[in-house]
Amino acid sequence: NERKIQDMDKLSVIGQLAAGIAHEIRNPLTSIKGFAQIIQERVDQPDVKTYLIIMLDELERMNQIVTEFMVLAKPHEIIDIKKVDVNKLIRSVIQFMEPQSLLKKIRILTSFECSITAFLDEIQLKQVLINLLQNAMEASESTKNCIEIKLKSIDDQHYLIQVKDQGPGMPLEKQNRLFEPFYTTKENGTGLGLLICKQIIDAHKGSIDIISRHGEGTVVNILLPKVFS
Ligand code: ADP
Ligand code: MG
Repeated sequence: NERKIQDMDKLSVIGQLAAGIAHEIRNPLTSIKGFAQIIQERVDQPDVKTYLIIMLDELERMNQIVTEFMVLAKPHEIIDIKKVDVNKLIRSVIQFMEPQSLLKKIRILTSFECSITAFLDEIQLKQVLINLLQNAMEASESTKNCIEIKLKSIDDQHYLIQVKDQGPGMPLEKQNRLFEPFYTTKENGTGLGLLICKQIIDAHKGSIDIISRHGEGTVVNILLPKVFS
């Protein structure tokens, strides 16, 4: 238990650090973007204009990453509950992951049984899906099997998002440790991804379940309420 408290302390230090760094990056980023925009409007040479457009695109991407990174800092604070199109949200996360999935040659398929709108924090739910897809992609690296995201309505009040991979799966003793802070089997892992997912889903009053079979793959089920109260 003492160990757990120490881990949580470490976690909040990392969170504060992450928030500080993200904030420090945000300011110069905004300023560079502003100047690039001004130059882009004033410049005449078409090739220079093209370069500036690429720069602005990349700056916007960095901005996006910083925004998503800032979620790390306050994982259990609900920032911004809004009515969100969940199908669209899932599609935008898949698009965000596309450079990586193309590079790794792993396909991400969707199977939407219906359209869902729900009340949630969009940035935080995106963070959950990014973390889960990241894990699924890392697990699928050896097999190259595709990943599937399902969306389905459970009843009037609940819906399910399922992320399924056909990677190596995990034995039970690993499954029991998944939500421990800093539990990782990866060389460059943080062991924070799933813990952050759990904190965000808990804050939304939902649940997250991971079912895995050694040698067959892993299924993550997220059950969420459609209305937030
Ligand atoms: P990290 O990815 O940084 O290691 P996570 O909290 O995201 O941290 O995951 C913790 C551990 O759980 C991983 O190191 C891995 O061993 C295991 N794991 C998570 N998702 C999967 C998956 N889809 N397939 C197999 N193992 C997984
Ligand atoms: Mg991870």
